[in-house]
Amino acid sequence: MPSVNDGIMVILSSPSGAGKTTLVNLLSKKDNFIISISHTTRKPRQSEIPNKDYYFVNDQEFKRLINNQEFIEYAKVFNNYYGTTRTPIIDNLNKGKNVLFDIDWQGADQIKNKKLDYKLITFFILPPSKEILFDRLSNRDMKDKLIVEERMQQFERDVLHWINYDYVVINDDLEKCYLKIKNLINAEINQGSKDYDPDYIRSHVEKLTS
Ligand code: ADP
Ligand code: 5GP
Repeated sequence: MPSVNDGIMVILSSPSGAGKTTLVNLLSKKDNFIISISHTTRKPRQSEIPNKDYYFVNDQEFKRLINNQEFIEYAKVFNNYYGTTRTPIIDNLNKGKNVLFDIDWQGADQIKNKKLDYKLITFFILPPSKEILFDRLSNRDMKDKLIVEERMQQFERDVLHWINYDYVVINDDLEKCYLKIKNLINAEINQGSKDYDPDYIRSHVEKLTS
């Protein structure tokens, strides 16, 4: 059973470009969540700061971490490896700090299956439409049309995992989406009433996948 003194774990996943990194940063800044810093074998983007956005490592170092069983979860995403090391997460949770994870559905599944003794809330973020997703990816990864195409193709597969999450939230207006997530987390912690419409989400997913 989770203890009231422990922190909680909140996972945000989404198809690439839907806005989870932006939302994770907002939740961390405004609500004091600790962001779990992942390890990855991907090369840093221009805007990224090593040891803040990710621990950037080579394949050899990543394999060493796997062999030492340091990961609570890890997965291959877009031809690179990504993983979350266990010790900093557990240390923070035991100190009563809430921890946010920006990880994909494979990592979310692995953490869920571990059934750790900490409260876990999972969110899947969706874009308002495929056109808007394309625009956001194009703006972010401006120099690399191939990356945008690859991620738009992956969208069709990634979106199917919405069903395995506690809540699905549409990131249209950023502030509204942030508040929605924050209110759902508060409702979960305080067992309050939730402003959540599963039928609306189901029909939005149908629109995105038709
Ligand atoms: P993800 O982490 O899901 O891949 P990002 O957080 O990197 O996505 O967001 C993709 C791009 O879309 C970024 O350039 C970000 O600034 C922008 N973005 C995120 N949310 C919104 C929003 N609600 N409205 C407009 N632009 C957004
Ligand atoms: P990006 O390369 O755009 O930063 O991330 C690509 C994908 O990898 C995103 O879906 C992101 O959530 C996911 N990701 C980032 N860190 C981890 C991690 O530690 N584990 C897993 N399983 N996925 C991660």
